[in-house]
Amino acid sequence: NDTISLDQLTGWLTRFRDLVTEQVSYLTELDSAIGDADHGSNMTRGMGAVVERIQASPAGTVDELFKGAGMTLVTSVGGASGPLYGTFFLRVGTTAGPVGTLDAPGLAAALRAGLDGVVARGKAEAGDKTMFDVLAPALDAFDDALLVSSDISSAAGAAYSAAQTGRDATEALLARKGRASYLGERSIGHIDPGAASTSLLFQALAEILVK
Ligand code: ADP
Ligand code: MG
Ligand code: MG
Repeated sequence: NDTISLDQLTGWLTRFRDLVTEQVSYLTELDSAIGDADHGSNMTRGMGAVVERIQASPAGTVDELFKGAGMTLVTSVGGASGPLYGTFFLRVGTTAGPVGTLDAPGLAAALRAGLDGVVARGKAEAGDKTMFDVLAPALDAFDDALLVSSDISSAAGAAYSAAQTGRDATEALLARKGRASYLGERSIGHIDPGAASTSLLFQALAEILVK
């Protein structure tokens, strides 16, 4: 597929809601080791509210879809992840604009703007042990795959693969942002919860494009 439709993007958010819900205990367990044990419930509550909103009033354009999702996350999730994922989706929406489909470069640009939003908000750098350590390599892999082929599905597969590698690599890192940073050396040896949920975001994208 050379383009992704509003329906598929809606399916992406729905699938992400399903995955964080299925893995709520795993995300909570990761956050109980180096945080405050609420990442599973934060993501499940936030994405639950996003999907409810979409079902109550389906978006007419891609920007409406993601701006609605971003606003909902910012307002329904109290933790760090609410404003961070919220800003991600808001920027994705703003950059996508009032369209009904995105082509591969359009999706890549929107996702990249989302990452820039996360950085503007949270100031995370590579190796700080945050969701950035999944988002950045996943988007780099997405862009690299598009240099070879304009197929969004294979680019999403490459992004998901890089996301899993990035997630696993957070285990060895010392946290420099967020609650986990209060633990200093004791944050080493645990996968970052936000990195794990961001990997699910790319799993969801890869999965809905395969169908
Ligand atoms: P809280 O830490 O407020 O309880 P969550 O548990 O829902 O919020 O989310 C924690 C996750 O947020 C972390 O695992 C990390 O990936 C991400 N995070 C925290 N601070 C930042 C930041 N400054 N930049 C990027 N990501 C961050
Ligand atoms: Mg937490
Ligand atoms: Mg919290």
